[in-house]
Amino acid sequence: MKVLVINAGSSSIKYQLFEMPAGTIVAKGMVERIGEPESALVHQYNNSKFASEVKAPDHDAGMQVILSTLTDAKIGVVKNISEIGAVGHRVVHGGEEFTGSVIINSHVLDSIERFADLAPLHNPPNLTGIRAAMHSLPSAVQTACFDTAFHTSIPKTAYIYGLPYDIYEKYRVRRYGFHGTSHRYVAQRCAALMGVDKSRANIITCHLGNGCSITAVKEGKSVDTSMGLTPLEGVVMGTRCGDIDPAILFYLADKGYTVKQLNTMCNKQSGLLGISGISNDMRNLREHAKEGSERARLALDIFGYRVTKYIGAYTAVLGRLDAVVFTGGIGENDAAMRAQICAGQSQIGIAIDAGANEAREPKERLISAAQSRVKVYVIATDEEAAIAADTYALAHPD
Ligand code: ADP
Repeated sequence: MKVLVINAGSSSIKYQLFEMPAGTIVAKGMVERIGEPESALVHQYNNSKFASEVKAPDHDAGMQVILSTLTDAKIGVVKNISEIGAVGHRVVHGGEEFTGSVIINSHVLDSIERFADLAPLHNPPNLTGIRAAMHSLPSAVQTACFDTAFHTSIPKTAYIYGLPYDIYEKYRVRRYGFHGTSHRYVAQRCAALMGVDKSRANIITCHLGNGCSITAVKEGKSVDTSMGLTPLEGVVMGTRCGDIDPAILFYLADKGYTVKQLNTMCNKQSGLLGISGISNDMRNLREHAKEGSERARLALDIFGYRVTKYIGAYTAVLGRLDAVVFTGGIGENDAAMRAQICAGQSQIGIAIDAGANEAREPKERLISAAQSRVKVYVIATDEEAAIAADTYALAHPD
């Protein structure tokens, strides 16, 4: 059975087609610039790559482009779309309702729509992608896999903010956390690499990409995570500020900044970009730091410092720490950042092996030194594989 995994954004649809249960990728790609006069298709199949301009005025048309590409006589990989038995959709916000992936029905659609209030940039395009797929593949099972679901095990002590309690009761303002599919996937892989059941391992997973979040995983369950009501809280990210004193916003509001300006500042002009004034991209910052830019150096130092702080906090939360995992574009590729984060952590049992840390392969590897009490791993995340596995399990309940 083939499972199509869809990640629909506001102007793009990313796709991966899996052969299940083997989990092999048959094809993948994306349609970008949906809604513009010229949209773009990139399609990878059988070690080949195809790129073309396409017409995709809306998500329905984008989905049609994907399906006609997958069934195309030359570059396609299936004879008939009926071979696609199920479609798994990445959905950012599942509120308090969804504790795992689910088969989509009208109630699920209504809930995703309701939670758009909490994720206005993400849930509406996710929903548009689902509707387009239901329209184009009416006989396939459609599932929703939520970024928030893994974090629904977080206890109340960790998810309630220190605000008046009725703010939670009235508006459901609480910590939800994000990147859940990634944290769950790498924590499971980590337990497998350690050769223990996930219910016996305490792990801190560091997803460091453009967006960054750290999760404390106790015996297979998320017990705390750095992102909050929205993906703005936590460590310093590419363009997001992470944790700040909320009074900064009142102070700046008094100086004349509007809510909209503050929102844009905190989400799009802060983090690595805001501190350095140069870039949100770690590779650019490394280049500039090498050439002597003090602000680039400062951005790198602050980034690493904040991650170290969370690792320290979550070590205390977990009580016993067995492993730390680095994943995401920075976590997987930036050996210098991993070394910086782990430097001087021998008192909590973390010591890196410099050679293993600098090796680029394999994609899943131990990078801690033999004497390190806590194991440290680099594990390439694969949210699509996790969504495909969930979708296959839901479509084949036995
Ligand atoms: P997203 O959150 O958008 O999925 P990624 O997980 O792809 O982002 O991470 C993007 C970040 O990873 C960028 O800051 C980029 O500079 C960084 N990155 C990617 N490759 C490397 C590398 N080889 N060395 C350092 N940083 C890298």
